[in-house]
Amino acid sequence: MSLVPFDNRDGFIWWDGTMVPWRDAKLHVLSHGLHYASAVFEGERAYAGNIFRLRDHTNRLIQSGRLLGFEIPFTADEIDSACKAILNANNLADAYIRPVAWRGSEQLAVSAQMTKIHLAIAAWPWPNLFGADRMKGIRLAVAEWRRPDPRTAPTASKAAGLYMIGTLSKHAAEKAGFDDALMLTCDGFVAEATGANIFFAFDGSLHSPTPESFLDGITRRTVISLARARNIPVIERRITPEEVRDAAEVFLAGTAAEITPVRAIGDLAFTPGTITETLIGDYDALVRMPPDEVAKRAA
Ligand code: PMP
Repeated sequence: MSLVPFDNRDGFIWWDGTMVPWRDAKLHVLSHGLHYASAVFEGERAYAGNIFRLRDHTNRLIQSGRLLGFEIPFTADEIDSACKAILNANNLADAYIRPVAWRGSEQLAVSAQMTKIHLAIAAWPWPNLFGADRMKGIRLAVAEWRRPDPRTAPTASKAAGLYMIGTLSKHAAEKAGFDDALMLTCDGFVAEATGANIFFAFDGSLHSPTPESFLDGITRRTVISLARARNIPVIERRITPEEVRDAAEVFLAGTAAEITPVRAIGDLAFTPGTITETLIGDYDALVRMPPDEVAKRAA
């Protein structure tokens, strides 16, 4: 597969309120966000022109910035409108949307009180990549890195810096022939994959680790409401790695991953089954509904 670099594409990027030609959306190398990871971002999907749970993503973006001690200088309404505008400017209907906010270059030191906060939003095509292959599932290696304790890092923030261990873990998994990594919490419980939450089916009910040191994903919460609507009991609790071998089904949930069955964790094998398949169907239907219908069903 040939890679099209992200700095060399056609289209527009929304940047602090203006539409900038894609290739001109350049940042100075002495930006605080680059050196000190004072940056937060979002990952959103548009289906048939509607951004799924847009306001939830916008609220999380604003909250992520606050957890890093800064206020994004745009309102939630303005950010929602900018996300929609960037879809239109690039003629996209099925797309991935990437807002990112960061501290600028006024100061380049640990103290950065005078830095300006910037916001950019890009979007690119993202068709459904899985198709009929989705039910085959993916394989997870158990990561050596653990999610930081919530007292060690602002783990409820979608902060750029928290992805450093994700990249390390994903690379190690790929090197060992797996697709992704399962990360544990700092005290050894199951946490999540590098870019998605995880669910297990035990005896007809769905169990998901309590999001104490990682994102309580928007997809995760959507899956929980879809499961409850199907009368599938959902239990959020601490899950040990030893328990995982008794799971009947395992899947990931995230904006990019949607619902992805897991067929192996280390040397344990799993067979994607009916709970996963039912929820994939329900999720696929939901994301294509009009936003007011989504709001009613995925409260
Ligand atoms: N955990 C991590 C580390 C992620 O990057 C994501 C994707 N944003 C998730 C969980 C799932 O979150 P969401 O469902 O809101 O995309």
